[in-house]
Formats: sequence, C-alpha cells, structure tokens
Amino acid sequence: MTDVDTHGLVLVTGAGGFIGGHLIADLRRRGCTQLRAVDIKPIDAWYQSFEEVDNRQLDLRDRSACDAASEGAREVYNLACDMGGMGFIETHKAECMLSVLINTHMLMAARDAGVSRYFYSSSACVYAADKQTRPDVAPLKEEDAYPAMPEDGYGWEKLFSERMCRHFREDYRLETRTARYHNVYGPHGTYEGGREKAPAAICRKIVAAQLSGAREIEVWGDGEQSRSFTYIDDCLHGTRALMDSDVTEPINIGSDELVTINQLIDVVEQIAGARFKRRYILDAPKGVRGRCSDNTLVKAKLGWAPSIRLHDGMERTYRWIHEQMTLPAEQRRQYA
Ligand code: NAD
Repeated sequence: MTDVDTHGLVLVTGAGGFIGGHLIADLRRRGCTQLRAVDIKPIDAWYQSFEEVDNRQLDLRDRSACDAASEGAREVYNLACDMGGMGFIETHKAECMLSVLINTHMLMAARDAGVSRYFYSSSACVYAADKQTRPDVAPLKEEDAYPAMPEDGYGWEKLFSERMCRHFREDYRLETRTARYHNVYGPHGTYEGGREKAPAAICRKIVAAQLSGAREIEVWGDGEQSRSFTYIDDCLHGTRALMDSDVTEPINIGSDELVTINQLIDVVEQIAGARFKRRYILDAPKGVRGRCSDNTLVKAKLGWAPSIRLHDGMERTYRWIHEQMTLPAEQRRQYA
C-alpha cells in the first residue's frame, strides 16, 4: 500500500460525522497537510475537528457548495449523507433518498474540478432482500446486489449513486472507488438521538441501566437478527487500501464475524461486568434478518480484510461511551 500523496489538497465531506472525523484524523497522522473538511453541521458540533484543517460548513445538496468544496482538490472522499441506523432509515425514506443530491452534485463538481480520484461510501444496504432472510445467512458477495431489491429508501439511493460513480468513470474518466461498508462502529460516533446504530445503542442502554440501577434493557426485535460489525480502524485501513488500488467495482469493507444482536449484547454485558433482563420490542425497526460480508473478493484484490475482533472493538467503544455519559453535564457534548 502506498502512503498518501502529501502533495495536493484532499477533501473529506461528511467530516463532522463519525467516519469522516476519523478519516481526517487518519490523513493527518499520515502526513497530509492540505486538508479540507466539509459538513452541513456547525463546526462546533463536529464529532472531531482540527484547527489547521480548512473546515467549512456547507450544504452539499447545493451544486455551488459542491463546486466551492471541490475547488483545487486532488482527491475527494465523499462521506456526506443524511443517514442513521434502522430506527432512522426505516422512518425517513424520502430524506435518505435526497442524499442523491449530494452524490450527484459532488460527482459533477469533482469532474469539473479535475479531481484525480473520488471515493464513494456505499453500504451493505444495497444487497438484495431475498439474500438476507435468515440469521444464518450466507455471506454477501458483491454480485448479490443484483437483481436489485435493496433496503427501501437508503439502499436504493446508495445503489443508484454507486452506478452513477461507475458511469462518471466510464463516460467522463473520473477515477472512482466505491466501498460497501458493513455496520461501522467505534468511539466518536453517534450514540443517542435516534440515528445511532445497534453497537452504540446497546452500549448506551447498558451504561444508562448501570447508572440508573435499572435491571432491564429494551431490545429491538427478538434479538435473533444477525449482522457483522466493522471496527473503525478496519474501515479506515480498507478505505485507504481501496483508494490506493486499481479496483474500480464496488467492494465490501466489512467484518465477516457474524453475530446475532443477542450475542452482541452478551459481548457488551461481559465488558460491562453486568447482566440485564431483555425486554424484546417485536414491532421496532429491525432491518433484514441476517447480513454478513463475504470477503473473498477484498482478500483477492486488496490482499487484506477486516480482522479486529468484535470483543476488542466493542471494548473500546463501550469505554468511550461510558466516559461520555459520565462526564459532568457542562463538559458533555452531543453525539446525535
Ligand atoms: P454520519 O452521519 O456520522 O456522518 C455523515 C455526515 O454527513 C454528518 O456529519 C452529516 O452532518 C453530514 N451531512 C449530511 N447531509 C449533508 C449535507 N447536505 N452537506 C454536507 N454534509 C452533510 O455517518 P457515518 O457513519 O460517518 O457515515 C459516513 C458515510 O458512510 C455515509 O455515506 C454512510 O452512508 C456510509 N456508511 C456508513 C456505515 C456505518 O455503519 N457507519 C455503513 C455503511 C455506509
């Protein structure tokens, strides 16, 4: 893997969010000094921000904002998206589909600004529903996105934008790279407010129960739905490897350590050193019954696959969420 080219401006969109904030930190660690970070949120609400970076608050649904963001950029990592966990995407389908404005305008702006490489963060939500009907699901290969029947709203938009990346590459020679992320988790991510995903939500519920002395936690569904969860360091590693590669087709960046939600709760309870009664909310949003990444292609093409064990990643995530939730009120910030 090559080191990041430290000459030339690198733009990260969605930089005020979870993965974008970590990506900026990672690029800085690797010596990249010309960085522009863009998000729609006010900069003081970003999950991570760095003074020497060109931080800008812009709404990238707007084409002129995309032009301003892309001006002079050599590389673009487009992570900006209006999204969240199942609780959000099942109830905000139109809002999720409107992220197509960000992706369309960012591609047009990058093409016109002469950007040499463009990264797009797609999702495992593009995979066809009929391949994800059982908890002991066969891992999803990249070809399983077609015939298309992705997650309604969010998944359709991601699949459409993936294809738009492909056609901008073929028709306009914009070098695009597309990752299908599978459930990324870690510190400095959303853990409250309705957009959080299962790993952070479970940590928050267990910390809250411990702090309040409650004996019970709520679980969405029967807890037997299965997923694989990707620790942020693996996500960054895969993103970098893909961006440095000549792999132009969408590729999985996801763990293949499949667990049920009940097993994920077991892991967090073990870390927390406490057990709770589980109250199952059967009509809560649950998503597909089973989903796991098949890493055959990523191993063949990038010579790498995620390897951080769920227990290790969850331990770091739980500790961080515990720390946030026990800070004095005046020092607490929102991760929502
Ligand atoms: P996030 O919500 O923490 O970050 C996304 C950021 O985009 C937010 O800070 C948000 O304010 C910003 N944004 C939204 N609308 C914008 C707009 N109009 N203009 C500018 N910025 C805007 O999410 P994340 O987990 O960091 O995800 C980053 C990317 O990775 C997204 O494209 C997401 O779909 C994709 N992805 C994430 C996961 C995951 O598990 N976290 C899984 C699959 C795909």
